[in-house]
Amino acid sequence: MSAPTETDELQVWVDQDLCTGDGLCVQYAPEVFEFDIDGLAYVKDSGGELLQSPGVRTGVPERLRLEVIDAAKECPGDCIHVVRASDDVEVAGPDAD
Ligand code: SF4
Repeated sequence: MSAPTETDELQVWVDQDLCTGDGLCVQYAPEVFEFDIDGLAYVKDSGGELLQSPGVRTGVPERLRLEVIDAAKECPGDCIHVVRASDDVEVAGPDAD
């Protein structure tokens, strides 16, 4: 895995097709992840608005980087993708090296 440096801007998205709805991500980082009424997890923007388009990305707040990365590593559906904004390399999630 190509570990992100502390200054890398990170983004995160959820593949709802694989989400099991268990809520682990919402427990880890409720500022970033939330359930929609379909029972699946979606990301939120910096203002706390739920982004309901499947697969849409949001920025990872600096103070929540570890929580979001841990959520991606432990997501039972393997469907949280954390990518480095500068080059789209996945740094945590099923497509990380
Ligand atoms: S941890 Fe993964 S599978 Fe579980 S609710 Fe979040 S995105 Fe869905």
